[in-house]
Amino acid sequence: MRFKMDKYRNCPVCGFSIKGRSDKKFCSSKCKSIYQYENRQKKEAFYLKVDRQLKINRKLLKHHNKSGYTTLKKSELHAKGFDPNFFTHYWKTQNGEVYLFCYDYGFLSLERNGKRKYLIVQWQDYMKFDKPKK
Ligand SMILES: [Zn+2]
Repeated sequence: MRFKMDKYRNCPVCGFSIKGRSDKKFCSSKCKSIYQYENRQKKEAFYLKVDRQLKINRKLLKHHNKSGYTTLKKSELHAKGFDPNFFTHYWKTQNGEVYLFCYDYGFLSLERNGKRKYLIVQWQDYMKFDKPKK
């Protein structure tokens, strides 16, 4: 078995042959930084996707929170790109209701007269985080 690969190495970015040291992986520092940038983007793709969805959710909640206490059909928000699986934190009331928040805007699932709705609220100072138990 011959290792021709070592002799005729090509740059994984531009495809040009690599000249110089045998441990060189790219033809130039420019191609190396392109590769590292793309690799970072790939690794961060999930984080970026979550980040994007959270911002879309927050924007939609803010937009529809006209009176500070608004109910809206779930289907209406979903059609605009809202995804309730993405939220930043929650607030539990004394009644045990759990509001899910996207930053400063929150939502609660409701069923009113057989219609599935969201109640949209804005974060208030009295909504305090429970301190994590030691
Ligand atoms: Zn190259």
